[in-house]
Amino acid sequence: MYPIHQLNIKTSILLDIARIDLIHPEYGGNKLFKLELNVAEAIKNKHSCILTFGGLHSNHIFSTSAYCRELRLKSIGVIRAYAENFLTSPTLFAAQSNGMQLEFAGKSNYKLKNEQSFINELKEKYGDFYLIPEGGANKLGVEGCFTILNENTKHYDYIFCACGTATTYTGLLLSAEDHQKIVGISVLNDKGSLCETVKKWLIKFNSTKQVSSLTNSDFINSNCIISGYEQGGYAKTNKTLINFKQSFEEKHQIKLDYIYTSKLFYAVFDIIEKKHIPSNCKVLIVHSGGTQGNKAFEEKIKNTALK
Ligand SMILES: *Cc1c(COP(=O)(O)O)cnc(C)c1O
Repeated sequence: MYPIHQLNIKTSILLDIARIDLIHPEYGGNKLFKLELNVAEAIKNKHSCILTFGGLHSNHIFSTSAYCRELRLKSIGVIRAYAENFLTSPTLFAAQSNGMQLEFAGKSNYKLKNEQSFINELKEKYGDFYLIPEGGANKLGVEGCFTILNENTKHYDYIFCACGTATTYTGLLLSAEDHQKIVGISVLNDKGSLCETVKKWLIKFNSTKQVSSLTNSDFINSNCIISGYEQGGYAKTNKTLINFKQSFEEKHQIKLDYIYTSKLFYAVFDIIEKKHIPSNCKVLIVHSGGTQGNKAFEEKIKNTALK
């Protein structure tokens, strides 16, 4: 079980945070939920090695390495970068310290990650492994997220999360009470594709739930994924967002990451300010973690002039 923290804000809305990030200092956050059932399945089928995919600063790579270390499983991370980039990534350094073996695929080879021929090559090189797709975005990843919501979250009217692959969002939506609205904040320029991904999952799970694609000027009265808070796209930021992150962290003493939760919390505050959800509602924000990547991100933006 994880703690739920209440934020002090001056509105009639109750604003709480599901601190799934606090479950574990390394693999806490949504990545744990996406890993749990996958790793259990691997163990059940007598695999002793997990192979997965991710970028230089991937939270999923970091969490997988720590979780596998804890469970005494071997892990291999196929990385979307060349080996010479290793030194620029505290994430990969930590993953390697956790015992993860790193395979640098480069950007062009990385694109082949779903091709059977590429996977066969990896099998020849590394032997048997259980494969978890990038971001933990598979059926067991979705089902793992069913346990984020529980007895303690049934009374919330709105539940917000950040969306990268929308795997977490789908898990929340499928496990939510009928009266609850699940709202995803897209952190990338997805042009509606995240909503389509969720719809495909809903069909696979034989669910009759509905989800729609909204923009940040819409009133929220349904399950939806909202675009307009991506601030230029994945891993992009600007002065407004950075100022928001700083003042939020100071005021509430809760750390955010740059890529996901800053955009998520910024969005929730903006939505409340614009009165896009009715007064007296109970709102829960899922703090999905991700702060391990902050150092590298700060290094990256140090010498860039932000708008
Ligand atoms: C990966 C990640 C997300 C996105 O989760 P999806 O299931 O891919 O949508 C959100 N927040 C954090 C901190 C993450 O690391």
